[in-house]
Amino acid sequence: MANIAVIGCGYVGLGTASVFAEFGHTVVGVDNDEAKVARLRDGDCPIFEPGLQEMLHRGLHAGRLSFTTEYADAVQTAEFVFICVSTPCAPHGGADMQYVRQAARSIGRQLAPERRTIIVNKSTMPPGSGDLVGALLGEEADPRARFAVVANPEFLREGSAVRDMLEPDRIVLGAADCSAAESVAALYPATDAPVVITDLRTAEIIKYAANAFLTTRISFINEIAQICEALGADVRHVAHGIGLDKRIGPHFLNAGIGFGGSCFPKDAQALEYIGAVANCYPRLLRSVLEINRDSRRSLVSKLDRMLGGLDGRTVAVWGLAFKPNTDDLREAPALDIIREMIACGARVRAYDPAAMDAARQLLPPSVAMCSDAYEAAEGADAVALVTEWNEFRGLDLVRVRELLRRPVLVDGRNVYDAHEMAALGFTYRGVGVPVVESIEDRTDEAAGAHVPVAVGQLAL
Ligand code: NAD
Repeated sequence: MANIAVIGCGYVGLGTASVFAEFGHTVVGVDNDEAKVARLRDGDCPIFEPGLQEMLHRGLHAGRLSFTTEYADAVQTAEFVFICVSTPCAPHGGADMQYVRQAARSIGRQLAPERRTIIVNKSTMPPGSGDLVGALLGEEADPRARFAVVANPEFLREGSAVRDMLEPDRIVLGAADCSAAESVAALYPATDAPVVITDLRTAEIIKYAANAFLTTRISFINEIAQICEALGADVRHVAHGIGLDKRIGPHFLNAGIGFGGSCFPKDAQALEYIGAVANCYPRLLRSVLEINRDSRRSLVSKLDRMLGGLDGRTVAVWGLAFKPNTDDLREAPALDIIREMIACGARVRAYDPAAMDAARQLLPPSVAMCSDAYEAAEGADAVALVTEWNEFRGLDLVRVRELLRRPVLVDGRNVYDAHEMAALGFTYRGVGVPVVESIEDRTDEAAGAHVPVAVGQLAL
């Protein structure tokens, strides 16, 4: 078993530290946020992530997991130091490496001269970062200190981070020195997951390419959804029909209002930037990002059409986190959508099962923060479902209809069935699904009647 230091105790770092402690290693988590470290020492998990709180407790009670703000406490005794600090989007669109630089210098100053330390880049870092971290360590370290840098990008999904870390699809390791990569591989218990060992830059690009591919699938199906919507076809069946092709597969083909979160938008943007700087014109990535921006806007314009304008209307927004099972609001579509609704003159009543505390800090004070989906719907002119939390699937929709001033529901994630919603008396619109009119729609001129493109217009 090894001594491990983990620098940065956010979604990735805390997960990494807790999982390595669960594997039996001795782990010290370092974070420069004193309040966060104090909470972690008390066993209070600062983020919502299924299973993480329990794992944190087990690690603390077993004495294998501890937290500090001091690099010296953690790095001097560590054989492996994982860098898990944030790499947000810089104003130029590339990754902001200031936290990585700070961490690398702080690690360098504490490297023990008497033995070799392996520094592992787990944060998502642009190609060339392994060399950068190595250079910064070299500038700061005692000249006798020996170290190697390994890239070990993280592929966890928020909401299922613990499971993803315990059962990864693959472990990617990049290093100039293959033996260093093999030592990092040995930290993970024997799993069926293939271990892919490459050079540093290749491993760094694998992470960006994986996220770029997933975002491409999302924007692809959202573009197909628009076409389906215009032609009266059903994108859910299209996705099913193409996903059964083994060359395509079913994943990441749910049409909706696009991707958000701390990774997909910034990583697609960063790869676009890297490509542009390297004189490779990244056309596909630019389109992926453009479609994603439009997907968010389309929910607001749909609602605007259905309500005959948003000025003076009240809208209930269900779901704020960028996806279910997390409280993470970074790049959450809901934030853009709410801001745009407010700019159009709407009042917003918002509810999310996990992200209310974080949302209070980010949303304008005019947004009414509600204690559940029903309270949000009370007296509203429409509901906009933005995040597909499971709890929204089990709601009493008859009660919701009665609470609303008008039974209008725009479903940004295709959670509900258009026929069932029409039967319940809702004016309902999903994404890329045919419109089913309710009895009220037929008599309501402001229902935003949607007529598919006629055969004649298709020039067949
Ligand atoms: P985060 O913002 O949740 O956590 C980063 C932590 O690092 C914070 O607690 C911060 O206080 C701390 N920190 C910053 N600078 C520090 C320093 N110099 N020394 C010590 N602590 C410092 O970020 P995250 O979501 O965990 O992401 C970390 C990295 O992992 C990013 O590069 C991200 O792209 C990548 N990643 C994230 C996910 C995800 O789902 N969140 C998945 C895969 C990869």
